[in-house]
Amino acid sequence: MDVCTVSSESEVDKPRQADLDRCVHCGLCLNACPTYRELGVEMDSPRGRIYQMVQVSSGAPITDSYREHIDLCLACRGCESACPSGVQYGRLIEAARAEIEANTERGWLSKTVRNFVFQKLLPSPALLTAAGAGLWIYQASGLQKLVRATGLANMLGPLGSREALAPAAEIPFFFREIGKTFPAEGGRRYRVAFMAGCIANVSFARLNEATVRVLRKNGCEVVVPAGQTCCGALHVHAGIRGEARKLARRNIDAVIDGDAVIDGKFDAIITNAAGCGSTLKEYDELLEHDPAYADRAKQFKSLMKDITEFLASIELNRNMGTVDATVTYQDSCHLSHGQKIRRQPRQLLEAVPGLKFREMPLSDICCGSAGIYNVLHTELSMKILESKMGNVNLTKAEIIATANPGCMIQMEVGVRKWGNGERVMHVVEILDEAYRKGDTK
Ligand code: SF4
Ligand code: SF4
Repeated sequence: MDVCTVSSESEVDKPRQADLDRCVHCGLCLNACPTYRELGVEMDSPRGRIYQMVQVSSGAPITDSYREHIDLCLACRGCESACPSGVQYGRLIEAARAEIEANTERGWLSKTVRNFVFQKLLPSPALLTAAGAGLWIYQASGLQKLVRATGLANMLGPLGSREALAPAAEIPFFFREIGKTFPAEGGRRYRVAFMAGCIANVSFARLNEATVRVLRKNGCEVVVPAGQTCCGALHVHAGIRGEARKLARRNIDAVIDGDAVIDGKFDAIITNAAGCGSTLKEYDELLEHDPAYADRAKQFKSLMKDITEFLASIELNRNMGTVDATVTYQDSCHLSHGQKIRRQPRQLLEAVPGLKFREMPLSDICCGSAGIYNVLHTELSMKILESKMGNVNLTKAEIIATANPGCMIQMEVGVRKWGNGERVMHVVEILDEAYRKGDTK
């Protein structure tokens, strides 16, 4: 790739000087950084990456080396939690990637693939359904088992290692529920909008159904607003903020002004995906310069809640059966570091009768999933995951709970490679199981 100098186009989307100036280069974040822990390279630490951002902001060219070090960051924001100076690292890395994107000439193939995935596939229920159907046939026909059992996957090189990361396609897909309203059980206490995600409609259809059931059990009328689309989190992580803004506007139109509010306003907008939640809560920043949307983006953000955050804030329905299992919890980075939600998922797990909770060491260090990081940087992602599974195994837990579909896919891979047959479940799925058992008591 060519060395580029920064163009004036990226003036809005580049690290803000005030954010860069907050870093005093103390290094207290280094141990919280999974890439620094694995690689031991200063330029792959938060302090090193900020140093490089400062150089670029002072006029240094964007080089391949800079691209690589910024690219290798998981954007997990573990450094943000560790930093005593309040450096907003998440904002810095997203802006640095947007600046790189605006100043990078891609080849035809790379441009075509990126445009297809980010502009066509992720926002399109029709294309996601088609891709999901293909994945389902591959898995249900036994072809996937054959590829894995014969070692063919290993012979496919990098493609084979990525095959292992493919999530299960779950039919029927959740797309069929978009536009529907589900009544509250036992009297309506709240009216909530549920954001179903993009890929999650295909690969986490059962989790989405469980989320609706658990909300209904807690007195929520659940609306799945028509017209909603991908939240734009993957776009933001890849530095494609223009596309993310388009998706944000569509979601705001669907939830704040769409047909869904004809029967009344929402008490909350809910997501079960920590990665999506972080971006959905940043719509105000994404659209701060858009006069037509800035106020509505603030309104959207003020209602946006992670499912665990919402359930922990209301009087929880305790009519649950026993879940007799030992459970450990993997903090999703975008929940713990991005949204500062750590206590709530644990509080919900501890409310389940019979469940024995065991904390793992370093539960808030990234598992290596990080959006599509595991696909793009599979080798480093697997090193990080192996360390994570070492900590999981210390707990001897039967269930690994988490609160983000991306982490669930990664932990499933971890269990297959280094685990002891643990079940990987979303916190909501454990609650759902407890409520089902409560119903049959
Ligand atoms: S990001 Fe924070 S903790 Fe890390 S070097 Fe800078 S000031 Fe220190
Ligand atoms: S976001 Fe995560 S991987 Fe990136 S510098 Fe911070 S701690 Fe390291």
